[in-house]
Amino acid sequence: MSTSKACFDELVDKNIAEAGWDFMEGVKKNRILIKTYGCQMNFHDSGLIEDGLLKNGFDKAGSLRDADIVILNTCSVRENADHKIVSEIGRLKGDKKIVLTGCFARQIKLKRENGVSVNNADIPVDYCFAPDEILSIPEILAGNFEKNYNGDINDKGFKEEFKATAKDDYQNFNLVEEYFYNKKVDSGFATIKIIEGCNNFCSYCIVPFVRGKERSIPFEIIYNSAKRYADKGVRELLLLGQNVNSYLSPEDDKKDFSYMLESLTKIDGIKKIKFLTSHPKDFNDKLIELIASNDKISKNIHLPVQAGSDRILSAMNRGYIRRDYLNLIEKLRKKCPDAAFSTDIIVGFPTETKEDFNMTLSLIDEAGFDFLFGFKYSPRPFTKAFKIKDDVSLKEKKERLGMVFEKQKKVFSSILNNLKGKRLDVTILAVDKEKNSAEFKNGILFKGEGLNDRTVYIVNKDKYKNLRIGDKRIADITYIENNRLYGEVI
Ligand code: SF4
Repeated sequence: MSTSKACFDELVDKNIAEAGWDFMEGVKKNRILIKTYGCQMNFHDSGLIEDGLLKNGFDKAGSLRDADIVILNTCSVRENADHKIVSEIGRLKGDKKIVLTGCFARQIKLKRENGVSVNNADIPVDYCFAPDEILSIPEILAGNFEKNYNGDINDKGFKEEFKATAKDDYQNFNLVEEYFYNKKVDSGFATIKIIEGCNNFCSYCIVPFVRGKERSIPFEIIYNSAKRYADKGVRELLLLGQNVNSYLSPEDDKKDFSYMLESLTKIDGIKKIKFLTSHPKDFNDKLIELIASNDKISKNIHLPVQAGSDRILSAMNRGYIRRDYLNLIEKLRKKCPDAAFSTDIIVGFPTETKEDFNMTLSLIDEAGFDFLFGFKYSPRPFTKAFKIKDDVSLKEKKERLGMVFEKQKKVFSSILNNLKGKRLDVTILAVDKEKNSAEFKNGILFKGEGLNDRTVYIVNKDKYKNLRIGDKRIADITYIENNRLYGEVI
């Protein structure tokens, strides 16, 4: 019996439907793997992307080999971060579908929008989402992934370029609310992004270009999310933003960062709140008073200084001079004597002389940081400093960076030595594997968190047999070794 093509197709559809096949379900079950680079903001965003994809029917791949779709949530703050991503894409291309997002994705889009040439062959990704488009990723991939994929790299360099449905996901508060409320929580710790973008335009920094202008998330969304997390067992919150202390709720300009911090400390169950990152010029007296008077707010403060010479600080457009910065540290120390500070330092900014650099070394001494992140300057596209000749040689930058770390080691060592003999409250957080079998074979070495999150190692000899992770104890600091505090539980 002959059957027309149309009739045959109808029969195919009917049989498929009766057998219960669902091809889209197969597509949605693609296994995803997210690789995150860079700062805490990206890790926070990756959590939101993953939650959204799992909710839309995707599965989590156990390893890179098992993944069908690899999402690269990228950083672009330094040149070597870009190189890392390009080589990762090169390694992945072929059998995986690649989704590029984060700051590097925005950089590529921005370059193309501005007619800057980008070697398309270097970025053979299937989708490219800027940081302000991440909340749309799950829906777009779930709905369109197979349909939009045409197997060829188009003239824009993407197999299919995603066009944002909203102008900016972080202005679409319903979307933000949905994602924040549904964020998966599987420990006593959670992060909340309170502000996105930056208006400061430090002359070396690509962030304002790739993350956009400052947009604060409405207070109610953050507060209600924190309450939900607390109900689910979260005890510690980390508030995130490029510049948290310029937070201002879009719906009520009385709700600034101090208001937000104080309100969150009043939520039942929340025991500690940390925040990252603060700009020194926006750290006002109201905030200092609040930190000093509220036990739930961490006194471990990250305050990026970048350089110690006024000439370089001005060229960097940091908005403060060395004296302002040191005065701020002094003021904070007066109010919170046990505060611990960390910072960021850039060495080899264009025109930085040896004298300028020595000012950075002396500032590290004067400020007394517990920790610092040091970087070699590298020119970033779109920034003002990009136009200044990068005249400090790589060799010189490496030497200066080495000197910064050497100086910091000494500074931290003297901070720790001052804690010897002191009695601290310590929370036992983990078992430290490193020394466990060798030097401490008669006991277990526990890693604890003491004064302002400083790590304290406790040897669990026979007398502390019952010490468990999560326990709170008082410990005497007995010795310092390799810039580590060792203590005994009393
Ligand atoms: S404050 Fe300066 S360094 Fe920090 S994100 Fe903004 S522009 Fe970049």
